[in-house]
Amino acid sequence: MRNFLVIVFVAVTLSGCGALGTYNPATQRRELIFISTPEEISMGQKIHQQLMKEEKLSRNPALIARVNRIGQKLALVSDRQDYEYHFYVIEKSDLNAFTVPGGNIYIYTGLLEKLTTDDEVAAVLAHEIGHCSARHTIKKYQAALGYNFVGDIILNKLNLGTNMKQIASLSSDALSSLVFSAYSRSDEYQSDKLGLKYMDLAGYDLNGMVKSFEALEKAGEKGSAPVFLRSHPYISDRIRAVKEEIAQMGPAGGSL
Ligand SMILES: [Zn+2]
Repeated sequence: MRNFLVIVFVAVTLSGCGALGTYNPATQRRELIFISTPEEISMGQKIHQQLMKEEKLSRNPALIARVNRIGQKLALVSDRQDYEYHFYVIEKSDLNAFTVPGGNIYIYTGLLEKLTTDDEVAAVLAHEIGHCSARHTIKKYQAALGYNFVGDIILNKLNLGTNMKQIASLSSDALSSLVFSAYSRSDEYQSDKLGLKYMDLAGYDLNGMVKSFEALEKAGEKGSAPVFLRSHPYISDRIRAVKEEIAQMGPAGGSL
């Protein structure tokens, strides 16, 4: 294992990444991402095609326009601007929203029905944009597929072009199977925090995040388990953390 890490270290250093990885302004850390943005987008397209075979998009033009209007406003202030964000409304009663590689964000009509104001809708979308900008989504994929990628990169003496071939060879099923795999708790907290930052920059009321979580908590108590929260930290802990963050962001952050 130690040898393997040494090889990775040498490989990465030689690759011209400089001091281990690339700086990510969202996480404020250097990160090792082996999948390039074009590769990520191509993965996203494959997953989207697969999702469209399984899910039905909403045909409600007002709802689609609303999600896009709010989503694009938030996307404009995201820390990650090297791809375009796309927002899709899926006709399904589940209380869920998720993001896949390449900047595609999906929200179910069931979840939208529980949210009242634009601020609450913005909270959910901003959280998902947080996963994009912090590169949680691609890191999750990289971790699951990583063994092959890293092995391939080393064996091919850092010929990153082979990455593309490997991604192209992955089936849509294999990629889609990872869509709902969980993020870590720290990733979820970080996305809430980034979500608040983007809501603030886009001019939304930060308390929309508290209210959206409370609405989901209430729905959960009534029995319809919010999928959006199932893999996430306890909702009460998230609400507390979000309230603390809003307080730290100062008087401009949210008006109770
Ligand atoms: Zn999340």
